[in-house]
Amino acid sequence: MLEFNLNDLIENIYDGLYFVDPARKIIYWNKAAERITGFSAEEVIGKHCWHDILMHVDEKGEPLCKTLCPLAKTIKDAKNRASELFLHHKDGHRVPVWVRTTPLKDAQGLIIGGAEFFSDNSQQDALRLKIEELQRLAFLDNLTQLANRRYAELELQSRLAEKERGGLSFGVILLDIDHFKQFNDRYGHDVGDQVLKTVSKTLAANTRPFDLFGRWGGEEFIGIFRNVDRPILQRIGERTRVLVERTRIKTPEEILHVTISLGATLADSQDDSHSLLKRADTLLYESKKGGRNRLAMD
Ligand code: GH3
Ligand code: MG
Ligand code: MG
Repeated sequence: MLEFNLNDLIENIYDGLYFVDPARKIIYWNKAAERITGFSAEEVIGKHCWHDILMHVDEKGEPLCKTLCPLAKTIKDAKNRASELFLHHKDGHRVPVWVRTTPLKDAQGLIIGGAEFFSDNSQQDALRLKIEELQRLAFLDNLTQLANRRYAELELQSRLAEKERGGLSFGVILLDIDHFKQFNDRYGHDVGDQVLKTVSKTLAANTRPFDLFGRWGGEEFIGIFRNVDRPILQRIGERTRVLVERTRIKTPEEILHVTISLGATLADSQDDSHSLLKRADTLLYESKKGGRNRLAMD
């Protein structure tokens, strides 16, 4: 026989679990029961569940405690039961639960109480996943899996607000793929998409956790870098340029390369997002005019 601590096990199982004596006084209440109901063990042990605790109701709102309580029935006839009920959470709301009751017997087979397992039947997990999915859809660029422009704009606003409160300095780099139209025209839109994806992977893979690269639109990207000074921003920009230049875009026929032009600038105390982006855009344009595959900084 395996040696293990049964008390510990039932205390920590995922389902809510409580025991009652034959008079349905609560004598045990595990951690999950606390999580699902909001009531701590101290609050409920020694009480009856109709003492303003679970006060189960069925779908019709019918209170079950006095007459229809599945646990009471189980204690009486020793049968296991399963039902869908609604318990009362300490905060007042109703929580749908899946309830199973089973008798507690002593060594002679005499019923000495009942146990109720219950699991949270609400769709909260599903809801949370749904919200995450919606956030993903709202803030992720589908093709490149980078943050989209909306997210980058919000990030920019946060960084500006942080800076205004005396927080960290930050810098912005706008970058644009060189001669991408020609590229598309020559190899087709699908290969163009492949370029955007591969370049985005290089950008994402070379971002520190508190920095961000987002897709600003078309074949233009934005990088937002926290806690940088001019030399560091320049180094990040140069490194990004070189890493993209060295990125190999694999198509079935051949391996292709692209270059980018960049405009980099630090946020100053007068900046709003408009002035900051305008400066970065002007610098990007300078890089293009200056021959492409280069970084311009003010
Ligand atoms: P420059 O060096 O001056 O930036 O030249 P360019 O050809 O890159 O500039 P332009 O802005 O004229 O062309 C951008 C092209 O990017 C035009 C458009 O067809 C292409 N493009 C924009 N979004 C996408 C996309 O999602 N997929 C593909 N394949 N192409 C895109
Ligand atoms: Mg371009
Ligand atoms: Mg462009």
